[in-house]
Amino acid sequence: MILILKPDISPDSRFYKRLEAHLQNLENIEYRVHHVQGAEQKLTEIYLIGHTSALSIEEMRAFQAVDHVVRISEEYRVLGRHKDDKRSSSFSYNGVEFGQHNLNIFAGLCAVDSPESVEAMMSALKDHGQVCTRMGAYKPRTSAYSFQGHGKNCLPYVFELAGKYDIKVIAMEVTHESHVAEIDAALDATGRPTGVMLQIGTRNTQNFELLKSVGRQREFPVLLKRGFGITLDESLHAAEYLASEGNQKVIFGLRGMKTNIGDPHRNMVDFAHVPVVKRLTRMPVCIDPSHSVGARFRCPDNILDILHVTAQGVIAGANMVLVDFHPDPSVALVDGPQALRLDELGPFLEDVAIVREAFEKRQALFR
Ligand code: PEP
Ligand code: MN
Repeated sequence: MILILKPDISPDSRFYKRLEAHLQNLENIEYRVHHVQGAEQKLTEIYLIGHTSALSIEEMRAFQAVDHVVRISEEYRVLGRHKDDKRSSSFSYNGVEFGQHNLNIFAGLCAVDSPESVEAMMSALKDHGQVCTRMGAYKPRTSAYSFQGHGKNCLPYVFELAGKYDIKVIAMEVTHESHVAEIDAALDATGRPTGVMLQIGTRNTQNFELLKSVGRQREFPVLLKRGFGITLDESLHAAEYLASEGNQKVIFGLRGMKTNIGDPHRNMVDFAHVPVVKRLTRMPVCIDPSHSVGARFRCPDNILDILHVTAQGVIAGANMVLVDFHPDPSVALVDGPQALRLDELGPFLEDVAIVREAFEKRQALFR
């Protein structure tokens, strides 16, 4: 059961204390308090865990501190959608809004290789009015002998250039909790010119200790990629690890499933799950067409498969697109074959805008 308290209620208030005293006396029930900072107000949610079936909704609603009560029917307690659930499905971070109602594009480098590439990328993004990007500093690689990313050494110039080109949010994968501290320290050292969305990659979807530590910090939002060889349900449970530790700013990423049934694509494109994740949870849904398709295949209509699958995700209501670009894909240190070129950024964004408009028309048709 979730108790959503009246907006902006203070823990020192009489009504809050009365509720707290009641909760402390309930047998076989534990509670956890979550604070959610919304665009306009701060919300307090109390999660009751244990023998809650004995509790009556009316009784809990009668407390003056309580605004409304949600009985949890599904297993994704914090991030799931439940009956009569009016909790928000959006959050804002560093001035950028993320939610199930809008769309953000994160075009950028799969892996940071040089300051020149970062600058060329960010300058192109600014020219096209973009404020988000992807920049991989810590790269999980199949081979121990492959380039693993420049790690913390590249962070100062990545963040400074982001400030120069007005980039507000950088999606950056972390594979160990120490990377979060390194990112935080580098942001401090550069005067916090930008924001970071921590990305947990498909190889770490069920790295529960990493999920718990990333979930314990509340500053950075998190993009959790779906596990490439597990069920959707298992990946959604993984997202819940982040939220159960306190961080509800979670975006769920679809990036294709590992199976040769999807050949010749690198992974089996799974964007049919965009509306499924939006129905089951309150998370905004990201699609990653680059890691799904994995190559610059081109259809006779002259449209790249990467753009075709992007369109498939966007027309189904995707809320974020994570896509690899590189100023010169032939020299990229990671995933060059799937990178789009900077001269393709404009047409890519235009194509997405066309499809997003079509999605909005579809929504209006069925509203
Ligand atoms: C990436 O986005 O750079 C990446 C490694 O993705 P995934 O975890 O989906 O393979
Ligand atoms: Mn990659």
